Amino acid sequence: MRIKINVTGIVQGVGFRPFIYRTAVKYGLTGYVRNRGDAGVEILIEGKEQDIQNFMRDLTAKRPPLAQIHEIITATLQGKTEHDKFTIYKSSEETELSGSVIPPDIAICNECLTELRNPKDPRYDYFFITCTNCGPRFTIIEKLPYDRENTTMREFPLCGFCQKEYADPINRRFHAQTVACPKCGPKVYLTTRNGEQIQHDDPVREAGRLLSEGSILAIKGYGGFHVAASSTKEKPLMALRRAKHRQAKPFAIMARSLETAKSFAEVNSKEEELLTSSARPIVLLNKSSTYSLSPLVAPDLHNVGVMLPYTGLHYLLFDRVDDAAFVMTSANPPNQPIVKDNDEALKTLGGTVDYFLFHNRKIAHRCDDSVLRVHGNRNVFVRRSRGYAPAPIMLKEKAQRCVIGLGGELNNVSCVLLENKAFISQHVGDVENVETKAFLQEATNHLIRLTNSHVDAIACDLHPKFTTTALARELADENGWQLIQVQHHHAHVAALMMEHAVDEIVGVVCDGYGYGVDGEAWGGEILLCTRESAEFKRLGHLEPQPLLGGDAATRYPMRIAAGILSKKVNIEDWLLRNSRHLPHGETEAKLILDQLQKGIGVSETTSCGRVLDGVTAILGVCYERSYEGEPAMKLESAAMKGKDALKMKPIINGDVLDTTQIVSAIFENIGKVSKADLAYSVHAYLARGLASLALEKALENSVKFIGFSGGAACNQILTRVMRETVEAEGLTFLVHEAVPSGDGGVSFGQAVVGGFSRF
Ligand SMILES: [Zn+2]
Ligand SMILES: [Zn+2]
Ligand SMILES: [Zn+2]
Repeated sequence: MRIKINVTGIVQGVGFRPFIYRTAVKYGLTGYVRNRGDAGVEILIEGKEQDIQNFMRDLTAKRPPLAQIHEIITATLQGKTEHDKFTIYKSSEETELSGSVIPPDIAICNECLTELRNPKDPRYDYFFITCTNCGPRFTIIEKLPYDRENTTMREFPLCGFCQKEYADPINRRFHAQTVACPKCGPKVYLTTRNGEQIQHDDPVREAGRLLSEGSILAIKGYGGFHVAASSTKEKPLMALRRAKHRQAKPFAIMARSLETAKSFAEVNSKEEELLTSSARPIVLLNKSSTYSLSPLVAPDLHNVGVMLPYTGLHYLLFDRVDDAAFVMTSANPPNQPIVKDNDEALKTLGGTVDYFLFHNRKIAHRCDDSVLRVHGNRNVFVRRSRGYAPAPIMLKEKAQRCVIGLGGELNNVSCVLLENKAFISQHVGDVENVETKAFLQEATNHLIRLTNSHVDAIACDLHPKFTTTALARELADENGWQLIQVQHHHAHVAALMMEHAVDEIVGVVCDGYGYGVDGEAWGGEILLCTRESAEFKRLGHLEPQPLLGGDAATRYPMRIAAGILSKKVNIEDWLLRNSRHLPHGETEAKLILDQLQKGIGVSETTSCGRVLDGVTAILGVCYERSYEGEPAMKLESAAMKGKDALKMKPIINGDVLDTTQIVSAIFENIGKVSKADLAYSVHAYLARGLASLALEKALENSVKFIGFSGGAACNQILTRVMRETVEAEGLTFLVHEAVPSGDGGVSFGQAVVGGFSRF
């Protein structure tokens, strides 16, 4: 019997061919296996029917842990057997099947870690030790099929020893494309900030020592550079904040081990699972009572972003020091993508760091670390990137067309929706300039090539001035693709609907800003969305509040507070007394009062983020937003130990949830009620109010599902209270599990509207 098998999914770069080889040999089958140019694997087997059946069973049941099989296409061939043994063939260039993809980067496996520590092993102490089960993939691949010559490992020909292992069917490195050793593999070296090499026989451990002593280093990893520093010493952290123009934005840290992470943060079993997973994301952990790192790491926040080492190099860094953790933050100049090339690093980071720890392997595709947090026992993506991209999100149904989603403006990623798979790019960032636009374009093109997709349409935001909208238009014109514009909050809800395969949902979306269908600034919305319709209904929203001075208002929460409070109380005294929290002091305060009186230059927004911002200024939690989401994040931290002291009943006027009353009540209770309780009360009010309004609308429209999306859905208190309110009424409450609730989920939602709606 002869059978030809095509397997699609994540089957290249995960030890699939060696597995097929061993399985075929085990059952005495002959034939071949080879990688295809479309990221799939082709197998021909010849032998007895029973043996082939056993082979087919093992193919799915015993596949390598990192492999994902989407489809197995078999065809029985006529004719006599042609092979007298089973062989791994050279890859083919065939590309007619689409939808397979190469795997994300994989953290060092336990076997490699053991070898790294074994003085008798030839790869003892080798910083880039890897095997078929671990190492970089996405970040080193230039084109398909996944063969060494198509990766940046091409420049490192195998030595005799590595070659032997590579060709040995029972070796763990059989056909492992990243295999290397100290003799033949990439080299690591230390330089000054000017790039002058420092001779040292152990540059990685020396780098660890320098960090521990207080130096700042740029360290090249898999997907880009990290800027690293001590997590306890004030001097380097201050210097880093100054140089990176990061007044208060939290730095991620890398802990030496799970145990040391537990010495300064609370880690539950779900968080432990994430921290030690092969994706090794940054996990936002609550600081513990024994938190001992510098307050400069994550100022005024209750949590800190922690990851564990994910390469041999990271482990070696900690060897000769006692530090529990190092700061390890993405090296990206303001509004630029993460730095990936050595020259670029010298140029852009030389002024910030004292030393560089370089290696000489090129990075084909930059990729930032992923960030998650855990609500109860649910994983919440803040950023989905390294360790996850480009693995697809599997949907329950097939889309009608292949659609690219280009996303919005902030925290952007792109998405390729193909049949029942959504491939989401690595984190691109804020797309506002030429560099980030180019990165978005490159990441999208790479995704299209990797998945061998034939695109029909491109989806983007409704905002006429977004860079991504202009780019979508260009690409649509150039390629003859259909252009589909999707309202920002609709995209959020569509993503949620598709993740959970529901046909109809009342979605609550809370974030900072999205361009509404009326051109107004939206951000606290209740929408009715259905699967087949490209339209949606806005059923309710937060009360519109004045946005004094537009962009200045989003930067300085005092302005929001003044706008809201002025509707109910006389704020003159308060504003003048607190005018030092405005960049231009009293002059500005007087101008604001004048503006409010005359009502000029005041636009409005229904944004939930802005209401929270206003409260931060009233409570003195935050007066300036120096990074995206800062006031709201700090308010959540302030509320963590609070309770709903005000217990205000939601005031709903028609389709609108009043926000003036709660903000005024907070103002009036300062000094009478604790800051934590007031911070909690506003969360509770908004969550209960929005949930009540959504419940009312869901009943009116006979909808059983209420969802919560938007950046504010990362907020644990809002999510918990909303869930309790919805579930108490017997409806199902849905949140994101596969994509970020923030704007990192928007391109997926856009693509979903484009791919599943009837046009
Ligand atoms: Zn390994
Ligand atoms: Zn070697
Ligand atoms: Zn949003």
